[in-house]
Amino acid sequence: MRIEEDLKLDYSDVLIRPKRSALSSRKEVNLEREFKFRHGDKNWKGIPIIASNMDGIGTISMMKSLSKQKMMVALHKHYESERYSEIIDEFTFLTSGIKEEDLEKLEALQKNKPIRFICLDVANGYTERFVSVVSRVREMCPDSIIMAGNVVTGEMTEQLILSGADIIKIGIGPGSVCTTRAKAGVGYPQLSAVIECADAAHGLNGMVCADGGCTNPGDIAKAFGAGADFVMLGGMLAGHTESELELIEKDGLQYCEYYGSSSQKAMQKHSGGKAEYRASEGKEVLIPFKGDVSKTLEEILGGVRSACTYAGAETLKQLSKCTTFVRVSNQTNNIFGLPQ
Ligand code: 5GP
Repeated sequence: MRIEEDLKLDYSDVLIRPKRSALSSRKEVNLEREFKFRHGDKNWKGIPIIASNMDGIGTISMMKSLSKQKMMVALHKHYESERYSEIIDEFTFLTSGIKEEDLEKLEALQKNKPIRFICLDVANGYTERFVSVVSRVREMCPDSIIMAGNVVTGEMTEQLILSGADIIKIGIGPGSVCTTRAKAGVGYPQLSAVIECADAAHGLNGMVCADGGCTNPGDIAKAFGAGADFVMLGGMLAGHTESELELIEKDGLQYCEYYGSSSQKAMQKHSGGKAEYRASEGKEVLIPFKGDVSKTLEEILGGVRSACTYAGAETLKQLSKCTTFVRVSNQTNNIFGLPQ
């Protein structure tokens, strides 16, 4: 047994320190970024915020709304292949697990039409099997932009980039409906994970996507300030028309379900129940229905623009260079009403 004594931080442990700036209005801030990837062909330009590949979040309706703002969606993997004809290539990741049947489905789709963005998603990205699947998918799809995860440490970020991934998804335990920290005692404070993995990835011309734990627009700004190239959101986008889930009436109010991909609910829906050997590492919550996602997107983009103005960053790209974090005693500010 060993204990690491270094202090590790979450988003709520810091604030971005305001700085003198030449910017006079939030309007002047440019949130679009243009990326060239280490392996994948073709550059990409847009606002690097991605809706998570979860039920109720990574939906085709969400893709249609977010792409209007040049934001992205990682589609959940439960659509029938026929629906993929609706996909907007430029703003959509196709998600795959790592079972043989998942990879066969991916190969068939790739043969039919080359896939531009692929998200290889597992709860634990530390297995040898995952590393070998990343290499195999890179061989199968040489020009695709591959995002793979989740991990939280620099050495595994490097390993996955060297195995063929372009973007590494960072986060074990921070998600608003994730219970891994409680059920397994495993995790890593998200701000530190992003800082350390971004440093490792950028040294190899790779990128990171900060996945989970953003409960308000300020957290998204902190993730970008910490060096994230992309930020993935679940809970902040839950409870909208675009969730494609039935609304629930309770005490005269409308709610929408939001549940973890490893929750009892998800396992029941997609795998016919939970296997005996595993614990559910996700929970189910009810989110008050908020209508169309466009209003929430305005709040999010407005918040990140505001952060850039305070930090003196004319573009989102400059934000991490302009960021100085100050450590504070827990600044939880849960304006989106997500579970803590
Ligand atoms: P949020 O934005 O809600 O804080 O976090 C969303 C992220 O939580 C997802 O993108 C995914 O990485 C993670 N996640 C989703 N469902 C589960 C789950 O059931 N268990 C765990 N451990 N993580 C989950």
